[in-house]
Amino acid sequence: MKDAIKQLNDIDNKLHAINHAQAIIYWDAATGAPKNSVEGRANTLSILTGEYYQTLVNETFDNLLKELAEQKDALDFVTLRKVEEFRNEYDKIAKIPVDMYKAYTADQAKASVAWEEAKEKSDFSIFAPHLEKLVDYNKKFIEYRGFQKHPYNTLLGDYEKNLTTDELDEFFSELKHTIVPLVTKINASHVKVNNDFTKLSYPIDKQEALNKDLLKAIGFDMDSGIMAKSVHPFTTNFNRHDVRVTTRYFEHNPFSAIYSTIHEGGHGIYEQNIGEALDFSTLGTGTSMGIHESQSRFFENIIGRSYPFMAYFFPIFKEAFPENLKDLSLYDFYLAVNKSEQSLIRIEADELTYSLHIMIRYEIEKLLIENKVLVKDLPALWNKKYEEYMGLIPENDAEGVLQDVHWSEGLFGYFPSYALGSAYASQFAHAMRKEFDLSEDLKKGDFSRIKDWLRTHIHQHGRLLNPSEIIEKTTGEPFNPKYYTEYLKEKYSEIYKLKD
Ligand SMILES: [Zn+2]
Repeated sequence: MKDAIKQLNDIDNKLHAINHAQAIIYWDAATGAPKNSVEGRANTLSILTGEYYQTLVNETFDNLLKELAEQKDALDFVTLRKVEEFRNEYDKIAKIPVDMYKAYTADQAKASVAWEEAKEKSDFSIFAPHLEKLVDYNKKFIEYRGFQKHPYNTLLGDYEKNLTTDELDEFFSELKHTIVPLVTKINASHVKVNNDFTKLSYPIDKQEALNKDLLKAIGFDMDSGIMAKSVHPFTTNFNRHDVRVTTRYFEHNPFSAIYSTIHEGGHGIYEQNIGEALDFSTLGTGTSMGIHESQSRFFENIIGRSYPFMAYFFPIFKEAFPENLKDLSLYDFYLAVNKSEQSLIRIEADELTYSLHIMIRYEIEKLLIENKVLVKDLPALWNKKYEEYMGLIPENDAEGVLQDVHWSEGLFGYFPSYALGSAYASQFAHAMRKEFDLSEDLKKGDFSRIKDWLRTHIHQHGRLLNPSEIIEKTTGEPFNPKYYTEYLKEKYSEIYKLKD
């Protein structure tokens, strides 16, 4: 059996190395590669995808997994989890022909470039043929892989194990019934939040220094990570000693960079604190997109937009930009970062209305997969939904249907994890507060206890525990959106002085 375990670990290590190589190429594409690099990148990524496929899908590996599964009672926990995860991955990928899988990777790379151009020119027709291809691939994948109850469930499960449209319909309906009435009341509230000071000039070089310090302060280890710039902020991880985050800067909106830094920092801290036993293993990463988002949103919103954190951060911000904040009070500063309003751009949305943006995408993706809408009709459908949920219609496709990167990368079923992550974060925060008072630590800018708690309960496990196991073990109950809806009601009723 020792031999079999060694073989398993060797293959795991090789798959991890292929992932590493692919991730570096994606990182490079997003942070500096020239426009004309796309053909070469598509070719290399497609070869690496083929290599990944052949390493995973072959009779020898199939037999090895079967042999180890038969002795599962004698396996240590890490090996057992590897066997289970590889079995799932094997069964998923083996159903798709290798050539199709390789072609898909190459077309994804081309779609990304087309999307960038389409967005720049605000011309959906440039992207539409590529998007049609990616949607068709995904429908084919569902055919090959099969589905339970709803075809979209197969895609959802890739990002959040066992997640279904039934659960999401219920979750989103609950959110809708909480958020929509709050938005209506906020629109009628006598409290008008003034954030004019955020529109003054904030030199980018000063912003860069501030964001780097902030990232370090919240617990991101700069010896095992770097921060760069990209059009869309993101995090990528090769192993716990090499985690990379990006942000972007606007001279007249410093909070865009600050909150994307804190957000990506939350993702990065998760990856830097995976347990040592999972080094160079494909299990040595975050367990799901939803849990990942729970970490980034915990830092960004629950901590980063809280009053105690603002008490710590206000003097720091004021020292960096004294001329812009002369007469501003701490409370006004707190209100400004929590200003809520209906808007068109998801990544600039406030904490409360954010999930409405996600609901729109969820509803559209479901219709796409059900063949109830065609790609060419997406801009009109998009605008209709924004009018319905936000009372606003985008002026062009760049600020409408073309705004997000996800579909250009073939990511369908990914968006719901953002809203789920916010809800998980509230449930985790509730559990953490039973053990200690976060606000005392935050006022002092001391993140060590918070980081330790997250490492112990969530980060260190990597993919050894699945999302529902982590939630139950950490909070003592299954996922419960009530913590999130209560949190939103309480926070925004207080800020906008709302009555029931
Ligand atoms: Zn995120």
